[in-house]
Amino acid sequence: MDILEYKNCPILVVGKEPEGQETISAAVKTFTGKLSSMGFQVLRAYTLDEGELVFRSNKAISCVIIDWSLKPSKLLGTMRFQNRNLPIFLVANKLEVGKIPLDIVSNTSGYIWLLEDTLDFNVGMVVEAAKKYIDSMLPPFFRELVNYTYEWKYAWHTPGHMGGIAFRKSPSGRFFFDFFGENTFRADLSVSVPELGSLLEHTEVVGKAESEAAKAFGADRTYFVTNGTSTANKIVFHGTVTPGQVVLADRNCHKSAMHAIIMTGAIPAYFIPTRNQYGIIGPIHNSEFEPKTVRKKLASSKLAKGAKAARLAIITNSTYDGLCYNVQSIKECLKDSVDCLHFDEAWYGYACFHPLYSGRYAMHPSRDDPSLPAMFATQSTHKVLAAFSQGSMVHVKSGKEKIDHELFNEAFMMHTSTSPQYGIIASLDVATRMMQDDGFRLMDEAMEEAIEFRKQMVEMGKKEKWWFVSWQPEKIRGKPFEKVDNKTLKSDPACWALKPNDKWHGFGDLKHDHILLDPIKVTILTPGINKKGKMEKFGIPAGIVSRFLHNRGIVVEKTGHYSFLCLFTIGTTKGKSATLLDALHEFKELYDSNAQMESVFPELAEKYPSIYKGLTLQKLCAGMHAFFVKEGISSIIHEAYSVLPPQEMAPAESYRLLVQGKVQKAKLKDLKGKISAAMIVPYPPGIPMMMPGEKFSPQTQKIMDYLDFCEEFDNEFPGFENEVHGVSIKNENGRLTYYVQCVK
Ligand SMILES: *Cc1c(COP(=O)(O)O)cnc(C)c1O
Repeated sequence: MDILEYKNCPILVVGKEPEGQETISAAVKTFTGKLSSMGFQVLRAYTLDEGELVFRSNKAISCVIIDWSLKPSKLLGTMRFQNRNLPIFLVANKLEVGKIPLDIVSNTSGYIWLLEDTLDFNVGMVVEAAKKYIDSMLPPFFRELVNYTYEWKYAWHTPGHMGGIAFRKSPSGRFFFDFFGENTFRADLSVSVPELGSLLEHTEVVGKAESEAAKAFGADRTYFVTNGTSTANKIVFHGTVTPGQVVLADRNCHKSAMHAIIMTGAIPAYFIPTRNQYGIIGPIHNSEFEPKTVRKKLASSKLAKGAKAARLAIITNSTYDGLCYNVQSIKECLKDSVDCLHFDEAWYGYACFHPLYSGRYAMHPSRDDPSLPAMFATQSTHKVLAAFSQGSMVHVKSGKEKIDHELFNEAFMMHTSTSPQYGIIASLDVATRMMQDDGFRLMDEAMEEAIEFRKQMVEMGKKEKWWFVSWQPEKIRGKPFEKVDNKTLKSDPACWALKPNDKWHGFGDLKHDHILLDPIKVTILTPGINKKGKMEKFGIPAGIVSRFLHNRGIVVEKTGHYSFLCLFTIGTTKGKSATLLDALHEFKELYDSNAQMESVFPELAEKYPSIYKGLTLQKLCAGMHAFFVKEGISSIIHEAYSVLPPQEMAPAESYRLLVQGKVQKAKLKDLKGKISAAMIVPYPPGIPMMMPGEKFSPQTQKIMDYLDFCEEFDNEFPGFENEVHGVSIKNENGRLTYYVQCVK
């Protein structure tokens, strides 16, 4: 690697400023001076506290040197816990070596005898150790990419921008080049660089990086995907399912799973998730996985044509609200019903790095049991770990069916570009190494932050007349949640288990240990629905709160009618949650002081004066809440999701008709009797209501009612419109009108 890169990685020197005749301190000063004069960046700290501060805030440090006379035992322990491989040297006097305690010795990489050895020797030793460390720290693909980039070769291959040069030839291109920086372009290589291997063939360093990932995530084999889990899901389907085979799908699946069903010509039967009183979509009840339930589902499906078992089951894990399944028990329950079990873990790539999630992710270590299904997990590395957008992985583990790599790779190639983005691949490689090195610590910190936030929410609630509620168990073994210490909460999964019939979760008689609430996914409830699911007099719809937060630069993950979700990931910094608390407080103050719309949502007051001008925040909340009460929102959602619409044709068939133009858009009032050609997903709550090929019929009246409700709401409260995927909206004489694509 280029020497410039090493020099950008500072060396931290912790030692006193020399006073009088102290020979060691003086020698440290000379030593530091020499490093600086050679162009290395040196960070100086004069006390242990200062040393710790600098160390914690700078992960680029490539070597640490500490004067042992400062008694650095505790600091050394901290540094080792944070970084197993960093070279740490003690500066000492050879005569004193016998006095250095064992715990210090075991946490250091070696000694520097400043008084005994020559300056050049000592400097050389430190620089070498730093270089070795940096080289070993970088994962295989990224390291090769960096090396290649620093060889400054002339490119005669694609991409056509030739290391960025083409951009510099025109003003807008020049701006683009400067914005992203030269390395972005020099490292944007094509498959014609043999040193970097081939993603399609999994050779050389790409292959190495994938096998490192397999080790880290617990898979037999891992595939890097450069087009998101949307594509990862399609790869798994195309590698396992053929036309006409039955697939058991979580009704709460991502649209890519539906696309995969269409593309493979599979016949879907569904697992129906539960819902609770707050409209939160819960887990699939354990009874849904039982052999007799599955048999019943298949027997009652007119499309499944008497199939006795399904080829594959796909389950979203964790759910969008952070509910994590007991994977082992699902595997065992489904073992005679499916050959392959696919967990869509788009939001859950961190699970294997913290013991709290033990046994709750697809690749969890388990004994080899040849009767269990083959396992697949798809993870959007970019969503919850640190990778470029679209960086995703497929993890595979054989079971009763052995997954043959060469055959499965045909599906991988079918969906993978022959010019994959190397930056995405490198980021998957780095994400893996980061989690291997620091996964536990990073997750533990995220958890700590989320737990602290939850506790503060509870404490705040005790002081105020009304406040927002973080959704979690109120008591743990009889002790109020906020009194349970963080260490227990971070290490004992039982704290987060959804106990059968506990009131707070409202998902009824779940099996013991079936579901765990992920502490880092924090759902916040706004006032309006009580624990029994009754609409209350006083209510503050969540959409208003999250719109307010958005204006304050806080973007929440997803918003329901009376709940919204905040995600604490490894990117969450200490204090980020304080910003959220502050903003919630500010909202409360504005609400309590009955602020004017013009000051809270000036953009809405200006854009829709006839509706919002002169209104106050309280009036807006009351108006929207009254609308939800009138429509009975909590029961309407509940009922709409309780029906499974009749399947008239396979999704692939309805899609065929769509391509042939044998479809027509219909208004909501004309839907009855028609077959939907679209997948209709209202946000909130973001669960498909209709799948292509399903029929609007008397049984689906509640679904049509819900769509009517959404349309009505959009017209009453512009600026707060629902997002309903799968419908198109036309403005007809000032009224927003929903249309659904139906089979002619
Ligand atoms: C986001 C998501 C996907 C798609 O992942 P991308 O990486 O955005 O393509 C698939 N499944 C679920 C459950 C998701 O939430």
